[in-house]
Amino acid sequence: MADAPKTVGEIIDVSASFLENRSIPEARPSCELLMSRLLGCGRMDILTKKDASVSDKQIEAMRRGLKRLSQGEPVQYIIGSVDFMGLHFKTDKRALIPRPETELLVEEAIRLKGAWNCGDNCIALDIGTGSGCIIISLAVSVQGPVYIGTDISDDAVSLAKENAAAIEPNSPIHFHTGMLEDFLEPQTISLIVSNPPYIKSSICDELPIHIREHEPRQALDGGPKGTEILEEIIQDASMLLRPGGHILLEIGNDQGETVPEILSGFGFENVAVKKDYAGHDRIVHAIIG
Ligand code: GLN
Repeated sequence: MADAPKTVGEIIDVSASFLENRSIPEARPSCELLMSRLLGCGRMDILTKKDASVSDKQIEAMRRGLKRLSQGEPVQYIIGSVDFMGLHFKTDKRALIPRPETELLVEEAIRLKGAWNCGDNCIALDIGTGSGCIIISLAVSVQGPVYIGTDISDDAVSLAKENAAAIEPNSPIHFHTGMLEDFLEPQTISLIVSNPPYIKSSICDELPIHIREHEPRQALDGGPKGTEILEEIIQDASMLLRPGGHILLEIGNDQGETVPEILSGFGFENVAVKKDYAGHDRIVHAIIG
């Protein structure tokens, strides 16, 4: 009988093929992430540790993680954190896992800070804050404004508060659960950012298992057309933004025409769509007239 795998490289190889045989997507990167967490190093450092041996305790922990991965659970929920804009965010089933393409939205907000960060009484609002990744990383990069994150989910807001306390304990970030009009005055906000649920309800049922069965449906499902929640947010934003205020939205790759039309319909101007690294329409920027 062959010896049981004992080195980092061997364990990753065996684990990745175990998951590939079960058609689990992202098998190798997930195994590398799990292993790097067990060894307390970065994922890239794994390459230099391929021949290092692994203790029985670590092998046992790897086995437990692998079992969860084989049931389709996302690796980020298993290891409990994700890197976003160079910061470590806690992540669990209370909210959507921060995605790399959402970093583009934050980068765009930072790039445009001279236009929206207007000195006194500047408020930036994140609608559907989830883990808080957008508003917290923006607060880390642009000092001065008051930041507000809202979500209809109490669970998401509790996670966002934990992330803010861990990442930016002294910054002015406030979180609220519930409807915007209950606590915000019209025409007071300088910047609205949002990565809302924008996937068509019918497509939500066809998403890969690690998304479909593990991430919160209400963070993904944008309604029958996929644009219903975007439209509500745009309508609210048209009332909440001060004249000349900015909006930045993440959108689906097939929404690069419909969302600008909705924005124009609510009085937004200078509407511009930006593509993500895969070449898909992803971020919309506009200014209220
Ligand atoms: N704002 C969070 C994120 O970008 C959550 C988004 C959501 O729940 N749709 O990850």
